[in-house]
Amino acid sequence: MQLQEILYSQGFGTRRVCCGLIQQGHVAVGNPAQLCTDATADFEPEGLEFTIQGKPWQYHEHAYLMLHKPTGHECSQKPGAWPSIYTLLPAPLRSRPSGAASGVQAVGRLDQDTTGLLLLSDDGKFIHRLSSPRHHVPKVYLATCKHPVTQQMVDKLLAGVVLEDDPKPVKASACRALGEHVLELTLTEGKYHQVKRMVAAVSNRVEALHRSRIGDIDLPADLAPGEWRWLTADEVAGLI
Ligand code: URA
Repeated sequence: MQLQEILYSQGFGTRRVCCGLIQQGHVAVGNPAQLCTDATADFEPEGLEFTIQGKPWQYHEHAYLMLHKPTGHECSQKPGAWPSIYTLLPAPLRSRPSGAASGVQAVGRLDQDTTGLLLLSDDGKFIHRLSSPRHHVPKVYLATCKHPVTQQMVDKLLAGVVLEDDPKPVKASACRALGEHVLELTLTEGKYHQVKRMVAAVSNRVEALHRSRIGDIDLPADLAPGEWRWLTADEVAGLI
């Protein structure tokens, strides 16, 4: 693949901008990096490392990422009151050409005040598959509750509670108390404010909510709030 096409595919600007960056000597390719000023030079893209204006990057045909969502961020491209989670990502990930939309998109949403594991991708099929109600990927949440958690609450959440917008009960596929005020719930659906509404339905109130796991992927302990990393090929394969 031509170097200008590689840069373009990764979100470094229009083909013209990418060509200019290369010709002006801002791009070095390989490890150790060697300056390349030929925009049409051919490289095998998969796994290719390059630096652009001194910053390292690695080619990925599709972007599959995890983000540790911090509190105080909205999962929207055009947020209302809070900064967008997309501002936590490097600019190329937000502008890589990817079908109808531009850049990576979150797989589902977390509330502004929810923290934890969020997946993002520019692969429409991957996003669609994981977001589909038919694809029951278990998601694990830790809910810190206002009132002490009782066994009766746990039993009701496992048996199913009715939310105001649907007569069909929704249930947690697993639920246990992890502390006097902490509930761990596993859900396989993703209704609007689902955890908060389910906990409210058992006469308690969520004061803090954290998603710790999606499918087989745990939020790594060393990924601080606001940080992101690429998913490994095994992690992606395990989700689809
Ligand atoms: N359930 C909620 O209530 N909020 C979230 O952010 C995620 C699940």
